[in-house]
Amino acid sequence: MTHKPAPGSLEVLREYLNTWSIPNDTRKPAEAIRTQQDLTDFLDQQPLLKDLQGNVEEFKAFREDVRKSIETQEIDVLSPWMQYHPLYTVFVKEERAAKIMFKPEDEDKFVGIFLAIIAEVVSKGQWNRLKSCPDCRYVFYDHSKNGSKKWCSMYAGGSNGRACGTIDKVKRYRSRNQIST
Ligand SMILES: [Zn+2]
Repeated sequence: MTHKPAPGSLEVLREYLNTWSIPNDTRKPAEAIRTQQDLTDFLDQQPLLKDLQGNVEEFKAFREDVRKSIETQEIDVLSPWMQYHPLYTVFVKEERAAKIMFKPEDEDKFVGIFLAIIAEVVSKGQWNRLKSCPDCRYVFYDHSKNGSKKWCSMYAGGSNGRACGTIDKVKRYRSRNQIST
């Protein structure tokens, strides 16, 4: 599936969320991380995550909650994770303006790193830009000006595009034009 990457380190989180997917050919949920070795391989592929620790159960449980927070727009689902993986803040001097950065107290755990990424995106007011397609559950970043994209297919120009949202669009078109079925 073709897509524009999410900005900065959010792209790593987006790829993490898509290790669970509903592939176009089978349309059945598929899990990419089944063993501890799968997990190590995934972490090793990302410079930001290399050598971090965590287990498969935690990987899946946290992924499920992050997906839930995106799909329901209820970020507080993630608050309990913050208690086990606390963050602290530091001031960073930048060329034009100062900024606040979030860091995990425990730098060895991938959950802490992901929470720091999420905290930064939330603080910028961009969390609602990360979306899960209502049809195929693929997680994408909405780059549109007004943030109104809903389905992944808007980005899927390639042969794998399954035209998500088509049925909904046809329904809306019909109701708008009062064509009876
Ligand atoms: Zn989709």
